[in-house]
Amino acid sequence: MNDTRHGGDRLVVVSNRLPVVVKKVGDMWTSMPGSGGLVSALAPVLRNRGGIWIGWSGTSEANPVTIGGLLQEAARHCGYSLKPVFLDQKDKDEFYHGFANEVIWPLFHDLQSHCNFAPRYWQAYNRVSRRFSDVIMQNTRPGDFIWIHDYHLMNVAQELRSRQVTARMGFFLHIPFPPPDIYMKLPWRFPILRALLEYDLLGFQTLRDRRNFLQCVRLIAPDLAITGKGQVVTIRAGSRELRVGTFPIGIDYQDFARGGKAEAVVRKARALHEDLPGRQVLLGVDRLDYTKGICHRFEAFRNALQRFPELHHRTTLVQVVVPSREDIPKYNDLKMEMERLVGEINGQFTQSGWVPIHYIFRSLSRTELLAYYRACEIALITPLKDGMNLVAKEFCAATPENDSVLILSEFAGAAAQLQKGALLVNPYGVEEVAETIARAIAMPSAERRTRMRKLKRFVRDYDIFWWVDSFLRAAIAKDLNDFPAPAEYIPRGETVSL
Ligand code: UDP
Repeated sequence: MNDTRHGGDRLVVVSNRLPVVVKKVGDMWTSMPGSGGLVSALAPVLRNRGGIWIGWSGTSEANPVTIGGLLQEAARHCGYSLKPVFLDQKDKDEFYHGFANEVIWPLFHDLQSHCNFAPRYWQAYNRVSRRFSDVIMQNTRPGDFIWIHDYHLMNVAQELRSRQVTARMGFFLHIPFPPPDIYMKLPWRFPILRALLEYDLLGFQTLRDRRNFLQCVRLIAPDLAITGKGQVVTIRAGSRELRVGTFPIGIDYQDFARGGKAEAVVRKARALHEDLPGRQVLLGVDRLDYTKGICHRFEAFRNALQRFPELHHRTTLVQVVVPSREDIPKYNDLKMEMERLVGEINGQFTQSGWVPIHYIFRSLSRTELLAYYRACEIALITPLKDGMNLVAKEFCAATPENDSVLILSEFAGAAAQLQKGALLVNPYGVEEVAETIARAIAMPSAERRTRMRKLKRFVRDYDIFWWVDSFLRAAIAKDLNDFPAPAEYIPRGETVSL
């Protein structure tokens, strides 16, 4: 690939949000760098290739001149351009809260009963796709590679193609893709699938998601030829060719591993554990979201305390919930239900010197988060469905090797990679999760060490830099055999014959 500062191909990243947050502090608008693995992985690539990041600034209140000025200033520091898309309050309500978070989010997590299929949301989705496309067209040229992220922006390639944009375009879906029976409930199933077929490379988190997508393609467009196996397959439609791959997203392993050993983190972790003497601490860290299975987890913990009284005084569940999407009614209902359950379970079991659930409803500083990863012996990560679940990987990177256990939902994307080291559970099976909690607490140190070593190795070898590299290589690679077949999780248990 050419160096870009001299007019060659550039990488253009498009996501719902920019990697910079524009915020009002007192009377002044200001910009702050965003955090997270995607930003740290893509920033060096964009800097080296002279790239561009296009997205919404996160506010519909500041005027465009103020936002433009702040982003220009921020771009000087990060070394690549930041181009804002402006969304107004109606877009925020109908596109972001509406179509993205009340239609696609629940449906793609198999929770169709949570969907609100309001027709005006679909109009807003298309309106915002056009708005993103305007900004992309103003800022790109034919040789660029445009990498579009996530479920908010599935229709953008189609909009750009209808305007004769010929640049190569890739798309990565960070959330799961549902099986056909569920996808087919979507009133706009045909246009969305057709829109996805306009990309040159489609990336999914796991083989499960890619298989679901390909099954939908076979149902809706049986004439398309799907060939190949391994990490990347090909769909042919006439002279057009589209690659479809699995690229499980990783984290910046070294950053979390180093962070977990930092002096301030070690001190804080020690203090946290001193407050919980003689306990093995279970940890849950989740955004407020019904897909995370938090209420099922509380029920499983209650079941463990009922059936295994030897756990009383010996274990505590620390559950961190990070506020999210609270203006959507389902999220507020969930918050009330969680708080009711915590009250009920603590009311039922608390004894002098022991409160079974410590519930924290706020976001943590990085030091606090790392300290919890370090202090807690057992991560209890039981989403009902999840694209990947980065908390599981961050815990493995930051925790000491010899005394930690990961209990992980088999429906988290991370299960495909982490199945050999984690204790996998069906999050709906309250008794199964309860028994696994008891098993984790009793697990000898040697088994913990063997399992955690495997987990750390996987998280380290397939980190966020591997992810960016493998997606970009698939976007430009000629030889599909370069890509080995990824691991897949197949549920265990008895075989059933008819
Ligand atoms: N996280 C955070 N603030 C907190 C606790 C967690 O920003 O107070 C981060 C955490 O480090 C992780 C992300 O939130 O990177 C959650 O990602 P995950 O894939 O587990 O779930 P998502 O929220 O994306 O569905």
